[in-house]
Amino acid sequence: MIDVVLKKGKEKAVLHKHPWVFSGAIENVKGNPANGEIIRLLDSKKDFLAYGFYNAQSRVAVRLLEWDEAIAVDDNWFRDKVRVAVAGRAHILADGSTDTCRLIFSESDYLPGLIVDKYADHLAVQVLTSGMQNAMPVIIDELNQLLKPASIFDKSDATSRSHEGLETTNVLLAGNEPPELVMVKENGISYGINIAEGQKSGFYCDQRYNRQVLAGYAKGKNVLDCFSYTGGFTLNSLKNGAASVTSVDSSALALETLEENIRLNKFEGTEHSAIKSDVNVQLRKFRDDGEMFDVIVLDPPKYAPSRSALDRASRAYKDLNRLGMQLLNSGGLLATFSCSGAMDMETFKQVLAWAALDAGKQVQFIYQFHQPEDHPVRASFPEGEYLKGLLCRVW
Ligand code: SAH
Repeated sequence: MIDVVLKKGKEKAVLHKHPWVFSGAIENVKGNPANGEIIRLLDSKKDFLAYGFYNAQSRVAVRLLEWDEAIAVDDNWFRDKVRVAVAGRAHILADGSTDTCRLIFSESDYLPGLIVDKYADHLAVQVLTSGMQNAMPVIIDELNQLLKPASIFDKSDATSRSHEGLETTNVLLAGNEPPELVMVKENGISYGINIAEGQKSGFYCDQRYNRQVLAGYAKGKNVLDCFSYTGGFTLNSLKNGAASVTSVDSSALALETLEENIRLNKFEGTEHSAIKSDVNVQLRKFRDDGEMFDVIVLDPPKYAPSRSALDRASRAYKDLNRLGMQLLNSGGLLATFSCSGAMDMETFKQVLAWAALDAGKQVQFIYQFHQPEDHPVRASFPEGEYLKGLLCRVW
């Protein structure tokens, strides 16, 4: 096995079990490891620190796997990590009202670069590192043994693959081609999931409980669901007796699926409209038309892909939330989210305080939303925490 030696003084994060080593921290590489090869990481005194995947092309040159020198990172090591992660999700699926969740969440489940989502009997995987790409045969075999899925579909179209020198893929790995819409249940609500053409792996299961919490406030209310995608917040609100729901998204495919989902659940009785538009444009249109709502959901895509983008992103979040607050009846509720890892909860609260000032409103934070337990945050890897939100009462 090839040794990679760290520069003096660069071992602290590794000793704290952070799983990333940046290329600038490396003194030398004793040999010529292939991208994705497992190496031994040593400190400047040549003492063993950890085993990890090496990638010469990536800014994160080493992704650490195992800190105990006596434990080999072999097929069984990977199988064990898969088994532990899958077993940890059992209670989410236990009562049958939900059959979709994230089974494996990358570094947070000790498998850097591997995401596995369960959609009823089908699995969608994303493979974002060359090391994990090499481990895929054993991972697929273990998933097949554990779950006997009808299909395993590789939905690795994330641009981050290019940082590791990998092509994007969208291909069946095992089983039969999944149907165009795979039927799943979440919180007792049915959804059709388009794995091949939908966004990410097809569905945003990280909002499972937040949708339920929001729906608890929707009864009898006029709800506006912005960035609705296939209708997570919309459907939970309809189920809980919202007076009306308006869903806005820029994706025609997402809205088509949303309307199909409304039919699937026989929620047609309630007043519902789906508007294909840029949310920023549509909110201004509502304002100009004098349309007001009781409950507004703002669940935008990631505005801050990195720390350096945070200032600009903060202005975008502030602008969006100011508009949202202005469209609420007095005492109405704003459920607002950020899935930017670079934006922490305290900064997000600050942004909302600025938005309230600009909107001429008073805001109470009445509930904090976060990512669910199938998106765990590893204590040594705070980067895994990305989804946060606030339920605000706006006066
Ligand atoms: N709330 C959704 C997930 C939202 S994901 C759920 O519960 O499933 C973000 C969504 O924002 C995507 O559907 C994307 O199509 C949409 N989107 C991105 N930029 C947009 C914009 N400027 N205006 C409207 N929709 C946008």
